Amino acid sequence: MGAGADLAGTTVLVAGAAAAARRAVRRYRAAGAAVRTVGSPAEYHSVLLGRVVLVALVEDGEPGWERLVADCRTCTVLLVREPAAAPGGRVTLVGGGPGPEDLLTGRALSALREADVVLYDRLGPHRELERLTGGAELVDVGKRPGHHAVPQDEIERLLVRAALEGHHVVRLKGGDPFVFGRGGEEVAACVRAGVEVSVVPGVTSAVSVPAAAGIPVTHRGVSHLFTVVSGHAPLTDAEHRHLAGLGGTIVVLMGVGTLPQLVAGLSGAGMDTTTPVAVVERGWSDSQRTTVSDLAGVVTDAAAARCTSPAVLVIGDVVRQAHGGRCAEPLAGIIRAAGGA
Ligand code: SAH
Repeated sequence: MGAGADLAGTTVLVAGAAAAARRAVRRYRAAGAAVRTVGSPAEYHSVLLGRVVLVALVEDGEPGWERLVADCRTCTVLLVREPAAAPGGRVTLVGGGPGPEDLLTGRALSALREADVVLYDRLGPHRELERLTGGAELVDVGKRPGHHAVPQDEIERLLVRAALEGHHVVRLKGGDPFVFGRGGEEVAACVRAGVEVSVVPGVTSAVSVPAAAGIPVTHRGVSHLFTVVSGHAPLTDAEHRHLAGLGGTIVVLMGVGTLPQLVAGLSGAGMDTTTPVAVVERGWSDSQRTTVSDLAGVVTDAAAARCTSPAVLVIGDVVRQAHGGRCAEPLAGIIRAAGGA
C-alpha cells in the first residue's frame, strides 16, 4: 500500500522505530494521508487509533507490538506490515539511460523504488520519477531554461549530507554515470566522507543514440573500433591526428557547439572528407531527428538544419549501415535532408 493508493484526507498511523519507519512515513504522506507516528510499543496508546483508517506496522525487529495488533482487530482498523528501511545512509549512482523509462535497467528501477531522496537532471528519465520512487524527495539539480544548474561541488555536498542523515540517496544521471557524467567525482566525494556508495551502470547515449538512428557503432568489415569523445571543449591538433589515424568510428557527445573545430581538425589531419557524418538529436524521443552528411558538408548542413544539443555525432563508414544499409544509396550522393526517427 502507499505509492498507488489515494489516501487523501485519511489518517494513517505508522508504527515502528523512526529510522526503520522513515520510508513508510514518506510514502503515506506522498499518498495524501495525514501521518501519525509511534516509535515504540511503550509510546503506544489506543487513543492513537482515533480516526485512523490504516495502521502501517513497520517490521523494525522490536518486540511488543502485539497490543497494537490486537487493538486493530478489535476496532476493525486495517493493518499492513511494512518492511523496515535499510539502516544507514548510502548513495547509489544510477545510470538512467537515454530517456525512455523502459531503457532503465531492473537494478536502476529497484534503486529508485528504495530511494528516500533522488537528485536528478534533465537528461535521462525524470518525468516519471514520482511514480517510480513512490514518495522519495525529488531534487532537480539540472539546468532548465532560466535556471542555473546546481554546481558540481554543491551536488556532491547534497549527496553526502543526505546520506549522512541516514537516507538512501539516488543520484540519477542520463546514460551511464561513468561516461562524461562526473560519476567518478561523486564516488570520490562519498568515499572521502566515508559514505557507502555503489554504481548502477546505464545504457549510454554513445551507443544507444546511434542505435536509435539505426547506426551500429561497429560493423564487421567496416569498423572494428569506436572511440567516444567529448566535444565539450575543442580537441588539440594531436588529438585530431590520433583520431583521424585510428580509422574507426568516432562518436562525439556534447559536440554540436564545437563541430566546426572538429571538422577542421579532422580534415586538416587528413581524414577523407567524404566520410559520412550523422547528427542524431534527441535520441529516443518523439522529436528525434537525424541529419546525415559528410565531413565536407556537415558544418553547413547541421547549421541549415539548426541542429541543437543534446545530440550525438557519428563519424565513419558505419553511418552507411544505418537500418541495415537501406540508407547506402542516398548516402552515396549525400543526404542533406533531415529525417525523422
Ligand atoms: N552519461 C551520459 C552522457 C552525458 S554528456 C551517457 O552515458 O549517455 C551529455 C551528452 O550526451 C549530450 O550533450 C549528448 O551529446 C548526449 N546525449 C545524452 N542523451 C541523449 C539523447 N537522448 N539524445 C542525443 N544525445 C544525448
